[in-house]
Amino acid sequence: APAIDEGPADDARDVLRRVFGYEDFRGRQREIVEHVIGGGDALVLMPTGGGKSLCYQVPSLVRPGTGIVVSPLIALMQDQVDALTELGVRAGFLNSAQQPHERRATEEAFLAGELDLLYLAPERLRTEPTADLLDRGRISLFAIDEAHCVAQWGHDFRPEYLQLSVLHERWPSVPRIALTATATPRTREEISTRLELTGARHFVADFDRPNIRYRIAAKAEPRKQLLDLLRTEHPGDAGIVYRLSRADVERTAEFLSGNGIDAVPYHAGLDASVRARHQERFLREDGVVVVATIAFGMGIDKPDVRFVAHLDLPKSIEGYYQETGRAGRDGLPATAWMAYGLQDVVQQRKMIQSSDGDEAHRRTLTAHLDAMLALCETVDCRRVRLLAHFGQESGPCGNCDTCLTPPESWDGTVAAQKLLSTVVRLDRERNQKFGTGQIVDILRGKRTAKVEQFRHHELSVFGVGAELGDAEWRTVARQLLAAGLLAVEGEYGTLVLTASSSEVLRREEPRTVRLRSEPQRSAGGSGAG
Ligand code: ADP
Ligand code: ZN
Repeated sequence: APAIDEGPADDARDVLRRVFGYEDFRGRQREIVEHVIGGGDALVLMPTGGGKSLCYQVPSLVRPGTGIVVSPLIALMQDQVDALTELGVRAGFLNSAQQPHERRATEEAFLAGELDLLYLAPERLRTEPTADLLDRGRISLFAIDEAHCVAQWGHDFRPEYLQLSVLHERWPSVPRIALTATATPRTREEISTRLELTGARHFVADFDRPNIRYRIAAKAEPRKQLLDLLRTEHPGDAGIVYRLSRADVERTAEFLSGNGIDAVPYHAGLDASVRARHQERFLREDGVVVVATIAFGMGIDKPDVRFVAHLDLPKSIEGYYQETGRAGRDGLPATAWMAYGLQDVVQQRKMIQSSDGDEAHRRTLTAHLDAMLALCETVDCRRVRLLAHFGQESGPCGNCDTCLTPPESWDGTVAAQKLLSTVVRLDRERNQKFGTGQIVDILRGKRTAKVEQFRHHELSVFGVGAELGDAEWRTVARQLLAAGLLAVEGEYGTLVLTASSSEVLRREEPRTVRLRSEPQRSAGGSGAG
């Protein structure tokens, strides 16, 4: 039963206005809502902030019965239910974090037909008591939020989502709407088959966020580069800085604070009260910068975030897109800036190698990383690459770094051969493996203590790469790693060849290696060569 007086005849637009206080639907919301109200299944792909919630909330209010929302974000259920209650919607949730008496009260309200929306954690649906409860009440629809979690191929797989095919088997006549902000064509396929949504209509929103300017810079001194960006382009602006580790979150927040930026840290290791306070400041005050792990941002709805910065490489384009998508929701110009360097590639490859899970899982992680690296190394429009990842075609955008200052590229075949042969020599002549630092010292002909200790100055390749500077050799190594022409191994990140390396090293018609020049190089700045 709907929360309003006029009864079920009310159409969707009425509910939108009376309950939610919005004048009109946005984008494809109207189509989606009408389709679901009519009893159809739907698969909705809409970027974060696009307005997915209304797509199932409005139909739940219009159709008789309770809309069951499956969501993995248990921590957000209370907030979501509170926000709905505020609007006069009768909502509740069932999850494991709840007191038994709260649970019983919610169950009774559901059975009495007094709930418009009921939020459930996916693992609950597996249990017979929950299924039995649902059988005894009246269900208006099933909404499956964060539906990409069902895809093993996706970046955020959750096994408990696999159980959700029971929805269709047990309640075949109840319409289902699956929603996600991140789905490549391949993930979309997987969602369809695993949730038995093959008959569902697909609603794919435009994923472009034209007001976001995407920029990926070569990492030198990331914190200083960031400070520079904030001072010159975003003074007094609110923004989010993402870091991989909690320690780096704290260090970066301190560094920024020490340099006059109003920055606060946020990560799961902080006290809940500290986290709440920092989040509150970010939401309520102007110009607060949050330095955070990816734990921050889910359910955060702040329209005037002017920049999102990544000081470490995200693990996938999906993650990158979701995080950068928190910038500029008000449609005004915003910056997505990232510093990316050799160490990121080495670190992430190492993390994958030492990750739990089987070989197939590691292959998935590698494919996600490779797609991310391709975005970093591209000489084409970043946006074209990004949108193509989500199956959307577009033309050069004019609002990303590669469009605004097209990167130069150079023929790095000889440089690649020198670097790869150094790896080969060490292996064949000495049976040794080393990390990038030592390889670069050998190439540049530097007689460091470590070079002397291992008598690397006696190698024939010693000093063959004097024409390039340290930074340039690291750039070459990074791009070879990104392209899979070189690999890292073991806990020290030693360099080893890959199956493709020989294509570059062969005498006859070696594979050409085009390398991206770093901005400072094309700007005529530092470095030799
Ligand atoms: P998503 O779940 O796709 O990330 P939300 O459902 O949280 O997005 O909606 C994002 C924001 O947009 C919310 O503040 C929501 O109230 C607002 N919103 C959604 N639809 C409309 C609309 N038709 N008119 C005005 N605001 C809307
Ligand atoms: Zn572009």
